[in-house]
Formats: sequence, structure tokens, C-alpha cells
Amino acid sequence: MTPAAYVHLDLDAARHNLSQVKRYAPNHKIMAVIKANGYGHGMTRIAQMLDQADAFAVARVDEGVRLRQAGFTQPITVLQGFVCVDELQLMLQHQLDAVIHTPMQIEILQQQNSWPSTLSIWLKMDTGMNRLGFKGSDFNAAYQQLLACPIINQPINLITHFANADDLLDDKTRQQIDLFTDAVKDYPGQRSIANSAGIIGWPNVSIATSQEMHSNWVRPGLMLYGCSPFSGKTGADFGLKPVMSLHSRLIAVKNVSAGETVGYSGTWQCKADTRLGVASIGYGDGYHRATRSGAPVLVNGLRVPLIGRVSMDMITVDLNSQPNAQPGDPVTLWGKNLPIEEIAHHAETIPYTLLCGITQRVQIVEQA
Ligand SMILES: *Cc1c(COP(=O)(O)O)cnc(C)c1O
Repeated sequence: MTPAAYVHLDLDAARHNLSQVKRYAPNHKIMAVIKANGYGHGMTRIAQMLDQADAFAVARVDEGVRLRQAGFTQPITVLQGFVCVDELQLMLQHQLDAVIHTPMQIEILQQQNSWPSTLSIWLKMDTGMNRLGFKGSDFNAAYQQLLACPIINQPINLITHFANADDLLDDKTRQQIDLFTDAVKDYPGQRSIANSAGIIGWPNVSIATSQEMHSNWVRPGLMLYGCSPFSGKTGADFGLKPVMSLHSRLIAVKNVSAGETVGYSGTWQCKADTRLGVASIGYGDGYHRATRSGAPVLVNGLRVPLIGRVSMDMITVDLNSQPNAQPGDPVTLWGKNLPIEEIAHHAETIPYTLLCGITQRVQIVEQA
């Protein structure tokens, strides 16, 4: 018996997407970004699927520790670095690489001369995102301070992050590239700039900053999971395949008369007599509550429209096009044959939030 709500992970798709990253960024090393529970896919599962990546990146120290405890030996970068001595100790103990982005981290590194081991770091430049990193002369000053820290492995690696790379018409990305390229031009060390949108949309990004091409790293997240970082497009437009498919099943089928309303607050009124299906999936599973009536749902592999509010455990669909549908019939919410980008559009959100929103009760089933 299949679980009520479950996710299928497609190993071939994951490996295919990784090979596509290599095609977009030849001669670059790949740091597979698997933060936030591997974008909802299960962090250790996706790490296993992507074990051909050169390294992993996570957001927080505890995520890196869990990867190590699961036995992964690849380099792991913690994108937020540490915020206190205890976290630094954990990073040293588990050989996690730190992004250094704020003066307090440097103060912690300077506190002591005898650490148990050395630390590889990425010094982050803020090129206009205004989130993490050092700007302008602060960046150079931080670089010099870190050079003097015995705990730091040399050379110091250099990193920045795009703010608007998903907008191909926005000149800000070019400005960020130029700012970074110029700031790091005299420094040795490896460089890393591009996320998925940078890799696909700004193909010269990493090359432009490389002295030696192999010293550059790309940091794909979303594209590894088969999704498009650009609105109005799907992963397939860029040769990517969805790794996650979200499935459920019908649990009831009934007739509702014209004029009656369906679900909470009666947001949907039947214009005609309606064959109605109830599927066992809701926002308690991560199917976004904001998804509007009319969003496509696959029942028996065919599209039917969502109608009414999404509940915690259920949704309702219009089955007029499938008079023979029965309880137990398969339902697909997104994935293969139903792009998540399309569902994100109907929920006024982005594929990232839908992927990350998959909850604990959804069983993850792997597919060879
Ligand atoms: C999350 C993240 C990435 C990956 O971004 P995608 O858009 O998912 O490819 C890369 N770099 C940093 C610093 C991140 O926080």
C-alpha cells in the first residue's frame, strides 16, 4: 500500500541535473547546495544522490555536523559560518569550511593562538546584496586580518552572492561581477560567485574572474533539484529534470449541485453540477494554502482543476472530466509531468518555498 502523501525522488534526475551543471560551468568545481533539508528532499538522501559533486554547502553549522555524522567526507562549506566560539569548535572538530562575513567572526578567530586544527575559509564580499559580507575597504582590511590568523588555511578563498541574477535584464548582476572581480584580482585563492541563476543566466560569470579556471566554484541549489530560477520558465527549458514528485490519492468522490459552495469560507461556488474529488494532501503536507482555484492537479495522470480552499489535510478538485475516477486513484501535485514552477505561479510563490515546505509527515520514497 502506498502512503497517503508521499514524495518520489528520482535519482537519475538528480545525477542528470548535476551533469547539466557541469555542462553550463565546464572546468568549474561544484559545491552542491543542500541546505534546508536538501530543499525539502531530505539532506542526507540528496547528498547521497549527488555524491559526485566536489563539495557540499549548507547554511548552518548543525546541518554540516549532521552531514559528517552521516558519514560524508566531502568538503562542506557552511554558508553562514559560525557565530560563537562553540560553533567554531564544532566546525574545527568536523572539518567544516566557514564563510567569514562579519567582524565578530574575525575577533573570535583572533582570540587564541592554539586551536586544535586549522580552518579553511571563504571570505565574503558584499557586492550589493546587503545581507552578508564585507564591503569595499572593509573587505581588504578583513583579508589582511585573516592573513595574520595562524588558524586560517592559506590561501583565503573568496566568495560573493548575487541579489538579482534571476532578472536577466537587471544590470546589477554585471555590476556585482565587476566589483568582485576588481576587488579580488590581486588575491590568490579560489573564487565562487554563481548560484543557479548565475550559472544558467550569466554564463561568463565565473570565467571572467578566473586566473586559473579550475580554481573556480559554482554553487548550484535549485537547478540540481530540476527547477528553473527564472519565473515563467520551467526546469525543462534549461535541460533539467524534476527530482521531486509529490503524490497522494483520492479519498472520496461525490456530486455537488450547481450553486453549492465547496470548502472553508465557501470560496468556490459550483456553476454547474460538479463531480467532486477529495484528495488526501493539504498545507499540513506542504501543499501551499495560497494555491488558487484553477491550479492543475493530476488525477490518473490527467489535469483537473483545484477548486476551493486548500485545507490542512485535503484538497478538492473538479472531476467533471473524469466521471469514472474513484477513491484510491493516484493524484500528483507536482513533479514529473506537472512542473512545480506552474504550481508556484498559481500559489503566488516560487518553487523554492514549495520544495522547502514539504513537512515531516510526507514520506520520502526513493526511485532508482
Ligand atoms: C542558497 C544559496 C545558493 C544556492 O542558490 P540557488 O538559487 O538555489 O542556486 C548559493 N549561494 C548561497 C550563498 C546561498 O545562500
